[in-house]
Amino acid sequence: MEALLRTEIEQFIAGHPGNRLPESDTPYLDRPLVGFSAATDTLYLEYKTIIGEFHLLPEELLPGAATVISWILPINRAVRESNRRQDSLPSREWCLTRTHGEVLNVELRRHLVEWLAGRGYRAAAPQLLPLWLEIPDTVHRIASTWSERHAAYAAGLGTFSLNDGLITPAGIAHRCGSVITNLIIPPTRRGAAHHRQNCLYYFNGSCGACIARCPVGAITRDGHDKDRCREMVYVTAPAALSERYGAPQTGCGLCQTKVPCESAIPPACRSAE
Ligand code: SF4
Ligand code: SF4
Repeated sequence: MEALLRTEIEQFIAGHPGNRLPESDTPYLDRPLVGFSAATDTLYLEYKTIIGEFHLLPEELLPGAATVISWILPINRAVRESNRRQDSLPSREWCLTRTHGEVLNVELRRHLVEWLAGRGYRAAAPQLLPLWLEIPDTVHRIASTWSERHAAYAAGLGTFSLNDGLITPAGIAHRCGSVITNLIIPPTRRGAAHHRQNCLYYFNGSCGACIARCPVGAITRDGHDKDRCREMVYVTAPAALSERYGAPQTGCGLCQTKVPCESAIPPACRSAE
């Protein structure tokens, strides 16, 4: 079933007619990375301390949960290259990917739930459940009852970064998602020595390229200012670009492009694995 699931996710993204930039053969999203974590992984209990008591366990989202299926949808090179050329607002291609790529991500969540149900397994996509809520004003500022990135970390797909992203073998520029199921699949090994290994800044104190890339000063050596970033991502950039590009969600992603972790784990970090 593990191999079948991987193939299903890959084929859904590769073959989806919506996975194309307008009037182009260029996809928004490249071949997915897929990983699995056990619903009983103690990390999910630790998240109640690390993120907050409000962060739900797989079992709280799907009684009888056995496995969390996580995926990374890497953003295509042409889209990333277009954003590399930007220094104050995201590119048209990036904006379109943020809007339409996430629509695909939502469709993938729904598709997998149905695909598993068709084979007799119960499944739920946390982000599509009424239990998924944004929680304002936590110690980490805004948070939610389920973090796709933390699930992806649990599934061995990457580690966290100075700018609050997840650096995966396909880099930091991606969309990610998850589905919980009662199907038992062996968990993917977490290879990293610690939860920030793939970020050069946490690895050896170097880099910081994302700091200079942020047009609103939301990243410093102390970390990522979520409030300042959200103002850019959900207010400033959409106000400037949504109508022009026909993209309600624009994202920003300047700190995810033209940086050493854009499309791969920086080699120095990899050498420590
Ligand atoms: S640009 Fe450098 S410091 Fe910033 S997240 Fe990537 S590796 Fe870390
Ligand atoms: S997404 Fe944009 S605003 Fe947010 S930290 Fe990155 S560069 Fe700054």
